[in-house]
Amino acid sequence: MFAKRFNELHPYVPGEQPKDRAYIKLNANENPYPPSPAVAEAMREFDPSLFRMYPDPDARGLREAISHMVGKGVTPEMVFVGNGSDEVLSFIFYTFFDSDKPLYFPEHTYSFYPVYAGYYDIPVRKIPLAPDFSVDVDAFLAGESGGIIFPNPNAPTGIFTPIAKIRSLLDRYPKDRAVVVDEAYIDFGGESAVSLLAEHKNLVIIRTFSKSFCFAGARLGYVIANPELISAIFTTKNSFNHFPVDALTQRIGVAACGDAGYYRRINDEIMRTRDSFAAALRAAGWEVLPSLTNFVFARKSGLGGREAYEAIKRGGVLVRHFDSPGISDFLRISIGTGEDMARLLEIMKGL
Ligand code: PMP
Repeated sequence: MFAKRFNELHPYVPGEQPKDRAYIKLNANENPYPPSPAVAEAMREFDPSLFRMYPDPDARGLREAISHMVGKGVTPEMVFVGNGSDEVLSFIFYTFFDSDKPLYFPEHTYSFYPVYAGYYDIPVRKIPLAPDFSVDVDAFLAGESGGIIFPNPNAPTGIFTPIAKIRSLLDRYPKDRAVVVDEAYIDFGGESAVSLLAEHKNLVIIRTFSKSFCFAGARLGYVIANPELISAIFTTKNSFNHFPVDALTQRIGVAACGDAGYYRRINDEIMRTRDSFAAALRAAGWEVLPSLTNFVFARKSGLGGREAYEAIKRGGVLVRHFDSPGISDFLRISIGTGEDMARLLEIMKGL
């Protein structure tokens, strides 16, 4: 009854999504604050009769708003939008990575990469992290790869790779293969690789509205790359489903792009909360990796990761534990409000 390819699927397992509010939810790197008031206003003003018609398949207004917000010479022709960066990633894997050479990505990274590689039959090579858990950029140059993808900052470690290292990688890497930098968490203190696009035509940058723009439930992600690559991603999209971003999400995306000041304020607050939470956790005997994201990756000597996760859950807080060799003693903790983190800190101090 089922196709052979169906029987070979290994689907991604997301963090728990409880529907009741019994838990403080710090397991999916969601933003604890609401989207900009400009988004609420755009929703109130949205005319539902627009749903009669298909949305703009090229999302021109939204791509213009994004290019304007990003600045640095980025034009609308350098922007592609999709239903969250997970969909955008799917188009990118299909467009740029082949089955004759392995795709390289860090051993510990976003766990959807191996899922898509399996889905599209792309061989992979997992590059070990450096001993301090940072991404070992030079190791990407060993052997013959068919492309590279890594998040910057990396997930689930939270560690940022300096732009100079990415530039040096691009300088030495073959120009006919894509280097994809997933900047899902770039707005929490990192520096974007956008400035490298003019010199490096094989660079592809992915961003999402889910984290810093509080849109996880609306589904909006985008790519920034040179126009030739963007046009190739459109070819893939138009061979699959040419109307992906709905009319309302296009509209509220434009509204969000127009209120950068609001997002800077709430994300600055998240960064302050992160740094004070990390300092307090270290003072309580935990090791916390240096994070430039809206989460921290932490462990305590002598305490198992699963055991810690379960004790914290009993205390009413959901965090994320990955049962992968090498990181199974860590917890990934999303940064919530100051109040959320104070409650979690009390529990963690007791472990
Ligand atoms: N990339 C990374 C590194 C992520 O952590 C996530 C969130 N799980 C995504 C992409 C996907 O985000 P979304 O589909 O919500 O845009």
